Amino acid sequence: MNLILLGAPGAGKGTQAEVICRELNIPTISTGNMLRAAVKAGTEYGLKAKAAMDAGDLVSDDIVIGILKDRIKEPDAQNGFILDGFPRTVPQAEALDAMGVKIDKVIEIHVPDEKIQQRLSGRRVCLDCGATYHVDFKPSKTEGVCDVCGKQLVIRKDDEPETVKSRLKTYHEQTAPLKGYYEAQGKLVTVEGQEEVADTSRLTLEALNA
Ligand code: ADP
Ligand code: ZN
Repeated sequence: MNLILLGAPGAGKGTQAEVICRELNIPTISTGNMLRAAVKAGTEYGLKAKAAMDAGDLVSDDIVIGILKDRIKEPDAQNGFILDGFPRTVPQAEALDAMGVKIDKVIEIHVPDEKIQQRLSGRRVCLDCGATYHVDFKPSKTEGVCDVCGKQLVIRKDDEPETVKSRLKTYHEQTAPLKGYYEAQGKLVTVEGQEEVADTSRLTLEALNA
């Protein structure tokens, strides 16, 4: 099963991807995590991506499409995958179609902008292993320390308030049109993000079987 998770930054796509990953035992492919790893490793495309990411802009379609194309060839992706953060533009969705990737379902996690702003301001991440936390909604066991690997948690540069505003603008302008794109293919299912993560997860699993 090949799935796409769609939603604004901070809607909780990553968390729901983990839920589906456990349910179906297929890997999550997060272009955001792959790009951050590339930035950290200082690869050529990492260097190109960094400026766009820090500003809350999208990385160019060529770069992300190239990364994605290589990733889905890996052995672990042969029984299906969950795309988290890809596609983010109509040309990226068209590229997937052109690669012959058959998408079974697109799950949109819908959360209003005001809620998103509140959520992202409390988000903390581990740059070492990629785990994410929230000071109110998903605190780490010890404040500022990653439960998984024990490294220090930080605020992602692109979670700063002004950057969040431009990420939301980018989402509405460039990514939200994908809802229409996949609705026209009869693949779109919308899940309303809930206060409690467990409630959203239940709705996601329902959407999966719908
Ligand atoms: P979030 O969903 O929280 O915005 P991600 O971790 O998915 O964050 O992505 C972080 C950043 O990486 C984005 O703001 C963007 O600059 C870049 N990025 C990730 N995926 C894509 C993509 N498919 N196309 C273009 N840029 C991307
Ligand atoms: Zn960690």
